[in-house]
Amino acid sequence: MNFELTEEQIAVRDAARDFAKTELLPGVIERDTKQEFPMKQIRALGELGFMGMMVDPKYGGSGMDAVSYVLAMEEISKIDASCSVVMSVNNSLVCWGLETFANEEQKMKYLVPLASGKVHGAFCLSEPEAGSDATSQRTTAEDKGDYYLLNGTKNWITNGNTADTFLVIAQTDVEKGHRGINAFIVEKSWEGFQVGPKEDKLGIRGSDTHSIMFQDMKVPKENRIGEDGFGFKFAMKTLGGGRIGIASQALGIASGAYELALAYSKERKAFGTEIMNHQAIQFKLADMATEIEAARLLCMKAAWQKDNGESYELTSSMAKLFASETAMRTTVEAVQVHGGYGYVKEYHVERLMRDAKITQIYEGTSEIQRIVISRSVLK
Ligand SMILES: Cc1cc2nc3c(=O)[nH]c(=O)nc-3n(C[C@H](O)[C@H](O)[C@H](O)COP(=O)(O)OP(=O)(O)OC[C@H]3O[C@@H](n4cnc5c(N)ncnc54)[C@H](O)[C@@H]3O)c2cc1C
Repeated sequence: MNFELTEEQIAVRDAARDFAKTELLPGVIERDTKQEFPMKQIRALGELGFMGMMVDPKYGGSGMDAVSYVLAMEEISKIDASCSVVMSVNNSLVCWGLETFANEEQKMKYLVPLASGKVHGAFCLSEPEAGSDATSQRTTAEDKGDYYLLNGTKNWITNGNTADTFLVIAQTDVEKGHRGINAFIVEKSWEGFQVGPKEDKLGIRGSDTHSIMFQDMKVPKENRIGEDGFGFKFAMKTLGGGRIGIASQALGIASGAYELALAYSKERKAFGTEIMNHQAIQFKLADMATEIEAARLLCMKAAWQKDNGESYELTSSMAKLFASETAMRTTVEAVQVHGGYGYVKEYHVERLMRDAKITQIYEGTSEIQRIVISRSVLK
């Protein structure tokens, strides 16, 4: 077993670390406060090759491995999780979904601009009545011969107001249940597309989350992904890979908070000594470091399995569950290590604590990950 990173992987990690410090850190508090989408930063990430990291260069991507993706996601998430969610949705859900399941024509038309970071995409599965239970799709795509007629509402869509390309899951044949669901590539300029107001969120406030409404939208037949009825499988397979992205986001939020707590414990004095000399603080740091390392190993194992063509769905669920729970515990403790200073924006840890919470909810809640994992271990 070899835990060493290659020279290329180290270079990707260092580039992401450098970008996060120089381009994301300045202004991150202001963007969070004002709920400002980091458009300039997202386009710059595209120029670095980070918006289509694992996509084949012939489709505009960077052709990197999933381990590099985890490394980059951790570094970006340490500083700005609002930015890393945009990166994760575009890389793991939109680009991966298209590269794996779309046909050549669809890839040339849609994947190339998405993977090169000129535009970014959104993944529309959740609905007001369909979250964890994604089979209860109420959005309909009626087969009209040459086209599908799309009607319905999608909820909580990341990049809802800034994306150009939307992957939309909808029910075509109710009687066939989840086998009657399809996935479509939709352009925001098409008639019948409407964006709801921006959600006012607890965390990842720089990202834009909106409801999306479709009213009698005509979707050309050639924009369906895969065979008729492939949509639910498409969504589940895509989310399986997406979990590596969100697990790495959670890992980054945790390690960012830990690094801040560690540094602060060496500066802050109480009872005549730096607080790092109090055993209560030392034990908090020891627990944080141990859990973060375990989360990192799970993320890396899932990425390694993906890179080596092995089944990675179980490990990616474990990584997402463990890393997101670690992010929550670590960020709460990082605020505690900072005392009163941890409770104000200037010290960053309160934002990381708010950002951590979403990692236990989206792309499958912690409860849903436990269902996936227990099903597998009980098989
Ligand atoms: C900021 C944000 C961004 C998002 N981005 C996207 C996006 O880009 N695209 C997209 O499609 N969706 C997105 N989502 C939606 C997200 O994936 C869902 O919110 C999530 O899957 C949970 O669904 P729900 O909110 O309907 O909760 P529900 O499914 O109603 O769950 C409520 C509670 O019940 C629990 N629960 C449900 N079923 C079970 C069960 N069988 N056993 C045990 N417990 C259960 C859940 O774990 C949860 O605790 C986003 C959500 C947020 C908040």
